[in-house]
Amino acid sequence: MKRILVTGGAGFVGSHLCERLIEAGHEVLCVDNYYTGSRRNVAHLLANPNFELLRHDVTFPLFAEVDEIYNLACPASPIHYQFDPVQTTKTSVHGAINMLGLAKRRKAKIFQASTSEVYGDPTIHPQVEEYWGNVNPIGIRSCYDEGKRCAETLFFDYHRQHRLQIKVARIFNTYGPRMHPNDGRVVSNFIMQALRGEPITLYGEGLQTRSFCYVDDLVEGFIRLMATGDEVTGPINLGNPGEFTIKALAEMVVAQTGSASKITYQPLPSDDPKQRQPDISKARALLDDWQPTIALEQGLTRTIVYFDGLLKSGLA
Ligand code: NAD
Ligand code: UDP
Ligand code: UDP
Repeated sequence: MKRILVTGGAGFVGSHLCERLIEAGHEVLCVDNYYTGSRRNVAHLLANPNFELLRHDVTFPLFAEVDEIYNLACPASPIHYQFDPVQTTKTSVHGAINMLGLAKRRKAKIFQASTSEVYGDPTIHPQVEEYWGNVNPIGIRSCYDEGKRCAETLFFDYHRQHRLQIKVARIFNTYGPRMHPNDGRVVSNFIMQALRGEPITLYGEGLQTRSFCYVDDLVEGFIRLMATGDEVTGPINLGNPGEFTIKALAEMVVAQTGSASKITYQPLPSDDPKQRQPDISKARALLDDWQPTIALEQGLTRTIVYFDGLLKSGLA
């Protein structure tokens, strides 16, 4: 049994991670400032004596006695991270410094939830970890992209300078139950619009692509990466290589919900990447043949059931 800190643990991915760690018999300290997450996401864990929830902002120092750290704190959807962009960069950069300082003092292994956004609007396809990316440093997505890139720099410098055991995962678009219903991300938007019978908002012509990973597959990748030996630092891509146009996703959601919603076209936001697909060869080689097992159709069904439940209980 280990004592494990999960920052951003009351968020979408974090809550699934906390659940997995608790099921495995660990003690979990979930730290979150509820910026985009909520206590409701971890309400089912509160009665467990191995689970502890702390309201705290990671841009401030944190002193806790733990053996492992998963650093997930950061708003992840464009409307949330662009709402207060300075706070987004602070969360990634100051948050990383504080969690790395904690890891250094405790000699704890530390995992960073990095992102495919470090590749920006990629000029090579699919994206391999060796690619340095094509990121606009001054655009509206930069607070997130550059914040995460700087966090990666800090992780590797703490590794080289202080011999910290680091595990950096570059996460590609992930979806599933407990996504925020109003976070503006494509999967939650389309499902909520379809369930409410509202128009489906397709940005641009909908020909841009993304690769969608179901949250359980992602969390399995986190656990396997954390369990690797010192020689594995990452960065390692974690995502589902199945690539879809956004238009195809819209059609799939409409078909699965049986909705009468019609597709409407809206302007493409600036700096919106045209294509994205992970090359997961490294994850397969280093993480015991890790690969996603849940197809988009199957994962969408589970996510639709979740959002439908929220609507029926008046929570969305
Ligand atoms: P989320 O918004 O649901 O979760 C982020 C959590 O961090 C929330 O609970 C939020 O309240 C908390 N948080 C934000 N700022 C904080 C601060 N200063 N101090 C403490 N807590 C803070 O998003 P998610 O999808 O669960 O993403 C989790 C992590 O994975 C993020 O770091 C995100 O960048 C990364 N990621 C997610 C995806 C994806 O598709 N979901 C893709 C790439 C990377
Ligand atoms: N820190 C923290 N918790 C700890 C240890 C450190 O939050 O248990 C913070 C500390 O406040 C500092 C940061 O982590 O701002 C970086 O710590 P480090 O030891 O690397 O740097 P220094 O304290 O020498 O600036
Ligand atoms: N998108 C869309 N309609 C929406 C929300 C998003 O067409 O209602 C598009 C968006 O322009 C992008 C893709 O879907 O091309 C994925 O957007 P999301 O915000 O989910 O993730 P990211 O752009 O960060 O990959």
